[in-house]
Amino acid sequence: MRFLFGRFVLLSLLAGVLGLAALTAPAWALEPVSISGDDTAIDLKPATDIYRNRGNNFQVATVPGADGIVRRIEVEAKSPRASGNWAVFALANNSDDQIDRLVVAPHFRLVGSGLLWPDLGSQRIASITPSQGFALERQPSSDADVFLVTLDPGTVITFVAELTSAKLPDLRLWEPNAYKDTINAFTLYRGIVLGIAGLLAVFLTILFVVKGSAMFPAAAALAWAVLAYICIDFDFWQKLMPLQPGQEPIWRAGTEAALAFSLAIFLFAYLNLNRWHRAVSISLVLWLLLLAGLGALSVFDPVIASGIARLSLAATAGIGLALIIGLAFHGFDRAVMLIPTWCLIILWLVAGWMTITGRIDNDIIQPALGGGLVLIVLLIGFTVMQHAFAGGTFAQGLLSDMERRSLALAGTGDAVFDWDVSRDRIFAGADGEALAGMPIASMNGPARDWLPVLHPDDRDRFKLTLDTILEHRRGRISQEFRLRDEDGHYHWVSLRARPVLGSDGEVVRCVGTLKDVTDLKKAEERLLHDALHDQLTGLPNRELFMDRMQAIGILAETRPDVHPTIFVIDLDRFKQVNDDFGIATGDTILLTVGRRLKRILKPQDSLARLGSDQFGLILVSETEVGAVAAFAEMLREAIKAPIMLANREIVLTGSIGLSGWAEQAVPEEVLKEAELAMYQAKRFGGDRIEPFRPAYKTIGSGRLQLESDLRRAFERGELSLAFQPIVRLDGGAVAGFEALMRWEHPKRGAISPAEFVPVAESTGLIVQLGQYALEEAAKRLGDLQRLTGDMSLFMSVNISSRQLIRQDLIADVKTVLERYRLPPETLKLELTESLVMDNPERSAQLLTRLRQLGVGLSLDDFGTGYSSLAYLMRFPFETLKIDQSFLRNNNQPQRPIILHSIVTMAHDLGLKVVAEGVESDLDVVQLRQLNCEYAQSFMFSPPLTFEAASRMLSDRMNGMKRAS
Ligand code: C2E
Ligand code: MG
Ligand code: MG
Repeated sequence: MRFLFGRFVLLSLLAGVLGLAALTAPAWALEPVSISGDDTAIDLKPATDIYRNRGNNFQVATVPGADGIVRRIEVEAKSPRASGNWAVFALANNSDDQIDRLVVAPHFRLVGSGLLWPDLGSQRIASITPSQGFALERQPSSDADVFLVTLDPGTVITFVAELTSAKLPDLRLWEPNAYKDTINAFTLYRGIVLGIAGLLAVFLTILFVVKGSAMFPAAAALAWAVLAYICIDFDFWQKLMPLQPGQEPIWRAGTEAALAFSLAIFLFAYLNLNRWHRAVSISLVLWLLLLAGLGALSVFDPVIASGIARLSLAATAGIGLALIIGLAFHGFDRAVMLIPTWCLIILWLVAGWMTITGRIDNDIIQPALGGGLVLIVLLIGFTVMQHAFAGGTFAQGLLSDMERRSLALAGTGDAVFDWDVSRDRIFAGADGEALAGMPIASMNGPARDWLPVLHPDDRDRFKLTLDTILEHRRGRISQEFRLRDEDGHYHWVSLRARPVLGSDGEVVRCVGTLKDVTDLKKAEERLLHDALHDQLTGLPNRELFMDRMQAIGILAETRPDVHPTIFVIDLDRFKQVNDDFGIATGDTILLTVGRRLKRILKPQDSLARLGSDQFGLILVSETEVGAVAAFAEMLREAIKAPIMLANREIVLTGSIGLSGWAEQAVPEEVLKEAELAMYQAKRFGGDRIEPFRPAYKTIGSGRLQLESDLRRAFERGELSLAFQPIVRLDGGAVAGFEALMRWEHPKRGAISPAEFVPVAESTGLIVQLGQYALEEAAKRLGDLQRLTGDMSLFMSVNISSRQLIRQDLIADVKTVLERYRLPPETLKLELTESLVMDNPERSAQLLTRLRQLGVGLSLDDFGTGYSSLAYLMRFPFETLKIDQSFLRNNNQPQRPIILHSIVTMAHDLGLKVVAEGVESDLDVVQLRQLNCEYAQSFMFSPPLTFEAASRMLSDRMNGMKRAS
């Protein structure tokens, strides 16, 4: 109420002052201001002449007095701070009474003080000398120069004021009582504002003590700065601590710098700009250093310091506005909350700017701006207070252990599992994300209600887990179950709980947490898959392959129908592909090949990637030799099919090695055998299928030894030929012989050609060996024909691939035919299918020319390869030798049918048939029925030495002679 009353008085007084000031006519030439008894305040400025730089001795003409005489007066400067400036005005008392008035020049006026080089106030007038009478008497006042003037009725007096500053912002003539009232009115207002500001500063400081957050000290600093500012502005400081004249600007500039400094700090601290924006922090620190420097500067040059502080305030407000708008758009709460305060700050600054530039010019604006500052701090106080009390009790650091635990549980995001054992009620907390989508209704109730939503495989485990914990009364549940969610999908849920015992030692509750761990579980499965599968093709890797081989091996041991075949497939020249087309293309090719191979498999077979371009395969679905061969051929074809890549066609081939599963085989060994076979296929030029042969084993290690031994053997004559009779099935007569190489090794004894022929083939020694065999066989055939006189007796000689490639074969054959005068058709050359198929074009050419010589051609080991008979008939064979493996496995039910079809087909194509390795009489009968021409087997005769063979022939001849 007092405050309002004060304002009222203040305003009415000011209205009077302004009204009167307007009424007084401005007098540009020095003209006396006439005074009547009832004016309260007259603005003397318009009627005052200012004389600048007139030195310490000032002369001026007075206005004409009542007597009309103009005098000259001379005034001597007395003040040590005299500026050399002088002000002259004249007053006329036209009334009939003596009038007392106060001449008042305030030290500081915010209005029109200026922005950049502000006028920060100072003593204005040192003394006033009248044209008559004594110098005016100075009245006590700390913020204005006040002089008492007494004017007698009818006098006109000129006054010369000695100025102590360059400017005289305001000069008024007051009625003493009115002046006192105005001062009093302002004092009340100032007191209230100061009180509020002081309280706010103290309050915010206390808040800072209670709450550590940086925004509180920043707000408190601002409050103190405001308090300091209005203390100075309201001339309160003077009263506590009298200032030396001339010190006032320093204080004023200092408080302005403090305002600028604390406002910047507050903005920064409140918006928490240092948390993410490093650059902002750095620029703020620089800014603050500048402002702190300003504080120091204000001691030396308050005017500049204050100018910069005022600019800084404007800059802070501008930048702050931009920041607040920006952050508010990003939904930053604090920025939104600061908007009203900041609007007020900007409004205040605009008003301040209008005031200091003189756009607003009245007496209440300066105290009003002081009040505005307090209002701003009040608003800031409210804003930060919200933060002081937000967060409730938890923010205070006063947590009970219970609360801490419950907060921790909420923090993990796990759901609560609480099984009240005696009432058999499970509570599964449904709040939060932990069990989103779960059938919460079924999970809250008796334990048995869980069973229907559990995965069938997990039900027993769940029951067992709960039962066990009840029985043992200790331990922990840590289990993972699958629960069906509302959509019918299963989620992995981890349950971790502990029993709570009652006073009787029985389990009363079981409490813990539930958590959806589906993602974790999936990742685990993925990891497991990755550990056992190849990353690129997704096929099992070597480890898993070995494991599967082990399992199949055990199965093969117990089940007679399981005959696995192990394949090792390696792409030929794959490194070249990688080099030419890049790794990425190489990967694509591997992926493609992997998929193609996989497509050929039956579900029970398995394919794996063993290494870079190596695949392993366990074939279980096919057991029969022909079918396995056909399967191998399919693999070869699948690899060979062109791969289209970016409009380019890449054709790759593969080398395929395979190995059957012998009894009691070790998986590693079998795989090694298949690998050896594969390497052999590679050695033969790739794009080939090679079954494992024991000889391959020596190719690695003992191979060198064997090689040199073989070379020596040939020179020492350790090699010889054995002759196995080929008999006519119809009658059992010997129709001819097959020449088979023999090596009697001095240390190792007899070595099978199956072992040394591949070695000889790979070294090139086979050429000499082959020539020797051809020569020797032809020679012996000639001997036998002469011995028996049977010129149809024939001799078969095995030909190897190297021999076939050489041009000399035809010449060699021609030579032996002529040398031993043999009928050409009695010399037969045996070639295997794979040998012919290695280079079909060239073979066809060669075989045709051999045929033109008249020699016979036999297709050896038919049935172990994989080409169709019809295809092979492109070559001019005249005899077909069915491989012994066909007749050996005679427990297969479909064998007679295959045998039948081979023989009939061969006959249809005009071929004679030799059955190798016939073992039983039953077979003989069967073959006879099929009209198979010849047989070659141990049953009839093993391979014989030449002597034994010729003895056998002559015995038979004698026998026949005797019979006839
Ligand atoms: P091949 O041409 O199929 O020769 C027949 C093989 O079957 C011979 O084995 C023979 O002893 C064997 N055999 C004959 N009857 C039976 C039987 O009833 N049961 C069983 N289990 N085996 C029987 P051998 O002498 O060990 O020769 C193996 C292979 O070595 C030959 O198979 C042939 O491919 C190759 N070979 C032999 N001599 C030469 C040669 O001078 N030059 C070339 N390049 N290869 C030869
Ligand atoms: Mg043969
Ligand atoms: Mg054979």
